[in-house]
Amino acid sequence: MTASGSEISSPSGPAFTGMALDRASTLRGDPAWIAQRLEDPATRAVAAGRDGVLIATAAQPRLLRRPLDRDSVAEAPDGPILLGLEGGAAVFAVDLDALEAAARARWQDGGRPVALREAGSVLSRAEGGLAAYLVGLLNWHRAHRFCANCGAATVVIEAGYARRCPHCGVVHFPRTDPVVIMVVEHAGSLLLGRRSGWPEGRYSVLAGFVSPGESLEEAVIREVREESGIEAFGPTFVTSQPWPFPSSLMLGFDARSAGGEPRALDGELEDVRWFTHDEVAAARSGAGELELPPPISIAHFLIERWVSRAR
Ligand SMILES: [Zn+2]
Repeated sequence: MTASGSEISSPSGPAFTGMALDRASTLRGDPAWIAQRLEDPATRAVAAGRDGVLIATAAQPRLLRRPLDRDSVAEAPDGPILLGLEGGAAVFAVDLDALEAAARARWQDGGRPVALREAGSVLSRAEGGLAAYLVGLLNWHRAHRFCANCGAATVVIEAGYARRCPHCGVVHFPRTDPVVIMVVEHAGSLLLGRRSGWPEGRYSVLAGFVSPGESLEEAVIREVREESGIEAFGPTFVTSQPWPFPSSLMLGFDARSAGGEPRALDGELEDVRWFTHDEVAAARSGAGELELPPPISIAHFLIERWVSRAR
């Protein structure tokens, strides 16, 4: 797998990448250090709940950072969840859904909840990355309060980077579900599929979850075959994107094909076909009938990259 460092670090990389906090990996396991952070007046917290992430009402949109509120962080039933350090100050996560009504109201007084998809389009890359990190970590905690091994209630350890089962001792780590998503090209055309329920004219690159016992490259070839009947080859890694809806990691690939007539085979797509470079280029400028996926998606990033390359 080869990665292009210039694309990964590019300011024009996919939304939700570019989180700038220091995750404090070597410090977060020290309870005394965490206790000091909870007492430090410089410590801040950011919050999210079912309605989205809380954004400060300011000229330049950013996540609302509030001084630590013991009701919402230190006394949280699961224990404090540290996101990391920002300019040396600790930033904790608050799950608005877990708060009592009064504490939730105090929080929401200072900002407005914005759905993560919208946040990804209005925030800077670094703030969007922080929003994805916050939501992804809270999603995992909400869904893993009980041990998958024995069913007992688990407790937070590592200041939020793991949960331990006091009954059987198993340690559970935050999980991400790998999804491959791929540009498939043949003779200057791009393979795109359409799901039912999408806006009229919307097509996107094919994608699917990686199966157990499968490499990413094998997943690319299998998903293209299953969804379109097309044989792809030569998958090459391009870039990746955290996609916490609720816990995916999107892994973008380029692949080629010898062509053929695509058919929507597995029931997930209602149509799949080749689009010429001109058709995709027209869609990019809003012309024609094809509509591309939204700009925050890695699909958009991959299609844009494909259409922009010299042909
Ligand atoms: Zn257990």
